[in-house]
Amino acid sequence: MKFIEENCGVFGIYSKKACADDIYQGLDFLQHRGQEYCGISTFDTEINHITHHGRVTNLFTGEELRRLTGTWGIGHVSLRDRQPMKWLTRTGEIAVAFSGNVINSDALLEDMMNRGKSFYKGYDIEIISKIIIEEGEGNIMNGISALSQKIKGSYSLVVLTAEGIYASRDTYGFRPLILGQDSERFVVCSESRALQNMDMEIVRDVAPGEIVLINDKGFQTAGQIDSPRRAHCAFEWAYTASIDSIIDGVYVQEARNNLGESLAQRDIDEGTVAANIVAPVPMSGVGHALGYHRRSGISYQDVFLYNRYADRSYTQITQLAREKMAKRKLSVLPYVKGKNVILCDDSIVRGTQILNKVKDLKKAGAKEVHVRIACPPLMYPCAFGISTRSGGELIARKHITTGDILSMEQLVDLEAWVARTIGADSVKFNTIDAFVASLLIPRESLCLQCFDGIVPSRT
Ligand code: SF4
Repeated sequence: MKFIEENCGVFGIYSKKACADDIYQGLDFLQHRGQEYCGISTFDTEINHITHHGRVTNLFTGEELRRLTGTWGIGHVSLRDRQPMKWLTRTGEIAVAFSGNVINSDALLEDMMNRGKSFYKGYDIEIISKIIIEEGEGNIMNGISALSQKIKGSYSLVVLTAEGIYASRDTYGFRPLILGQDSERFVVCSESRALQNMDMEIVRDVAPGEIVLINDKGFQTAGQIDSPRRAHCAFEWAYTASIDSIIDGVYVQEARNNLGESLAQRDIDEGTVAANIVAPVPMSGVGHALGYHRRSGISYQDVFLYNRYADRSYTQITQLAREKMAKRKLSVLPYVKGKNVILCDDSIVRGTQILNKVKDLKKAGAKEVHVRIACPPLMYPCAFGISTRSGGELIARKHITTGDILSMEQLVDLEAWVARTIGADSVKFNTIDAFVASLLIPRESLCLQCFDGIVPSRT
């Protein structure tokens, strides 16, 4: 079970040529951020618009892409709802897509409905769009600025209009948003991997609170909303983003390798490394396991074979179906027999998934399984809606009930308890200090609230 289970990605392009194929390609490179829904909107005197339930490359046909005419447009991939959403406003058509979560959506919906507004389902994207349209009164810039006053939560968004594409990041910069270009195209997207793989040059990250207008002149900062401080979601580097992305100047791969190295260093310092192989939980533990291998010198080997054709386990309806699917997804390599294994993963939420993996390895004959976790223990639910896991679901909370940041003594006690609970020979997490040092980002620019309980606020 993953802590970040709701996610999405945005893409926007202004091109000298028809752009639908580029959006399709860009979304394919962002598909890891959401596989349930996808959608494309393009502008060509009016907005052409198609969304699907499922993955981009499975569903968009050549005929559909030909119908999406125009040289600028936006796209979206999601685990939650269909986007972009298209609107007819008094100043013309617009389409809106965002990556993030509105945590005060109930209060906003109630307030807006009390003022006579109607909604299709009350999705976050409807709330965001209506604020942009109604508070902006025809001026998109003003509408986006109003979001920072009304919305609690996180958002990186793209708005398709007749004058180009507006792109903006919430004032804390929780979610990534990056700009890239070549001689014919200006692009904004959730992760740099789309730019790299489309042979484009990375220009820069969108700053927290910045509103960028993208048109035939390129990128212009059309507005800058006051940013109280940066608070990038630390999970982007540890788990969410693709390992080939660079976010806010830090290579995701380097951050993950550092997290693994830090775990290995702790084992070396404590004199407790006695393993034959270090292995990842696919695919979330790969960068961490490589880092562990690099620092410890212990041989890197896969112990699970990843079945890329199995569907995602949480889309199955029953627990039994989910467990069966999880089994189909990862099969144990018999090579583990008689080995002492260091098993690396990004985080532990409830502990059920890692418990099953330890059980599978032991059943296949592994002598010892030592679990190493890149993130510190999850102690608090996310206050920004990026994860919807409740505090009661967190395994660490079943053992530690006090609210303070864990001391080293408490951490070691928790690790021993988690090891017993999941049947591992040992468990170690990175400390918060080691985690921050590995990410190569100043602590004051990160959100760590699910680990330390400190809600980022104006400093
Ligand atoms: S609390 Fe902060 S670090 Fe944790 S998931 Fe939420 S935004 Fe990310």
